[in-house]
Amino acid sequence: MHRSAMLRGAKLMALKAAEALHVDRFLLRSAWRSRRLLILCYHGISIDDEHLWDSSLYMPRPVLRRRFEILRELDAKVLPLGEAIERMEAGTLPPRSVAITFDDGNYDFLTQALPLIREFSYPVTLYLTTYYSDFNRPVFDVACSYLSWKARGRTLVWPEVVGAPVLLDDANRAAIDRRIKDYVKSAGLSGAAKDNLLRDLAGRLGIDYDALGTRRLFHLVTADEARELAAAGVDVQLHTHRHRTSRDRDFFRREIDENRAAIARITSEPANHFCYPGGFHLPEFPEWLRERGVVSATTCEPGLTTRETDRLLLPRLVDHTGLTEEEFRGWVSGVASWLPHRAHVMSEGQLLEG
Ligand SMILES: [Zn+2]
Repeated sequence: MHRSAMLRGAKLMALKAAEALHVDRFLLRSAWRSRRLLILCYHGISIDDEHLWDSSLYMPRPVLRRRFEILRELDAKVLPLGEAIERMEAGTLPPRSVAITFDDGNYDFLTQALPLIREFSYPVTLYLTTYYSDFNRPVFDVACSYLSWKARGRTLVWPEVVGAPVLLDDANRAAIDRRIKDYVKSAGLSGAAKDNLLRDLAGRLGIDYDALGTRRLFHLVTADEARELAAAGVDVQLHTHRHRTSRDRDFFRREIDENRAAIARITSEPANHFCYPGGFHLPEFPEWLRERGVVSATTCEPGLTTRETDRLLLPRLVDHTGLTEEEFRGWVSGVASWLPHRAHVMSEGQLLEG
């Protein structure tokens, strides 16, 4: 057995044992847990089969519903993010505190997640990236990978982009995806040109690109829709304009400022909470954020937050389809934070030079 699979098996056994011994129930009521905040992170909630393509990014709606039910069963106190952070600092968190965040602002947030959020009356924060909200076409990177998954088993003939005809099987789909993205990068294509490229790709794979667009898989919410969300009580916060950060301070700053200006057109509430795109952060980022008046920033490193945690490097549990209910409950009680968990591997994919 692979080492990580063995570790996971051992961890699941430990979680079962903790449940049998009521360690989790004890922790849920403990002062130790009361001093801690669990921040949850979600991405897409599938409109169709997106979770079958990428179960780490997309979750079927029934799984999200079950997570919300578990929060209710465990009597978790779901707080607005800003309030949760303030009360953590003041030492006045209620027991079993949880904050819920969604990244990016996919259209499916509006149609799939919001009805559940309303039903459970949970406050949520939406970290909105604004370029594709303005330019309301499918987000290139995700739509491109999805198209080649959708056409798996077929042969892609696209000499100008990928060279020789290539079979889109499990062995080389990732490499082809990378080759298309490298082509886009080196050609310095605009949003509109990238959209045309997706249409070209879909046509070559026999996929109806317009149908995909009509259903708005991989679209973000428009500014008008984001306004509706804000009016419905969703806390809209910062996630950079182009879902990019940079080692270049001015470029980094511009991404925050443009994102903030776009959000200011959506909601009158000031946007001062930030989420690192792709969870990627460099040591200089917290200071740059502080200079822009940002008061908190979340990563994708799993963990519970305490008063001692740097506000600009708050850990989050990225919930996903592969996480079992036991693991999820273990995170709500806190017992899972004691067990070894796979560290979030930061990818430099979100980093762009100025
Ligand atoms: Zn994101």
